[in-house]
Amino acid sequence: MNETVDVADLVAWFRRYAAVIEGRADELSSLDAAIGDADHGTNMRRGCQAVVDMLAAEQPADVSGFGKAVGMRLISAVGGASGPLYGSFFLAFGTAGDSAVTLTPSALAACWQAGTVSVASRGKAVLGDKTMLDALLPCVDALVAAAELGASMSDTLEAGLAAAADGMAATIPMTARKGRASYLGERSAGHQDPGATSAWLLVRAAAEVRRGEVS
Ligand code: ADP
Ligand code: MG
Repeated sequence: MNETVDVADLVAWFRRYAAVIEGRADELSSLDAAIGDADHGTNMRRGCQAVVDMLAAEQPADVSGFGKAVGMRLISAVGGASGPLYGSFFLAFGTAGDSAVTLTPSALAACWQAGTVSVASRGKAVLGDKTMLDALLPCVDALVAAAELGASMSDTLEAGLAAAADGMAATIPMTARKGRASYLGERSAGHQDPGATSAWLLVRAAAEVRRGEVS
């Protein structure tokens, strides 16, 4: 069994993510309507489409090239808070991967970790603030733990996915302390965070590609 992902797999991951976002854009914007300004789905759809168009024109040479190209494109194409945050995730993901052309489960976990740390430092948010980090941070912990135990690539990604799903659901009762939703104060409780939902979809897309569900 091939226990690495290569650059083409990373591209397939993003293409899958863009397809999923396209299908769920209205749902993401509805989540944002409840506690923000109803644009998370349109923001993400615009950014993901711009990335897919770019990836169709030029295949990155290594993990660094992938992360840099995706990150820069997201930052330039997405107007909302989520664009620079997801952009910094991919920029740091690429920096951590450097000139690698394949990633083992632990190397992939390290790239996710670097991306997540970068989101936290850029957005100055912590676990429990009701943001995308509430899906990303538990996901990273699960990815790192599974990879350290020597889990396969699939099992590592499935562990990350399960943790991200729990983290996303955990945002429902939370009161937002960062971003637009924080303006609502306690009225933000009772709604799932849109960014935690798109972050869950990001790891889900990676797990789906690994399962062979490529669109
Ligand atoms: P905007 O809030 O500018 O309209 P989006 O609607 O696209 O941007 O994205 C909103 C999402 O961004 C939120 O649901 C939250 O998960 C995430 N977010 C907002 N601020 C932060 C932050 N400081 N740190 C991490 N994530 C954040
Ligand atoms: Mg919004």
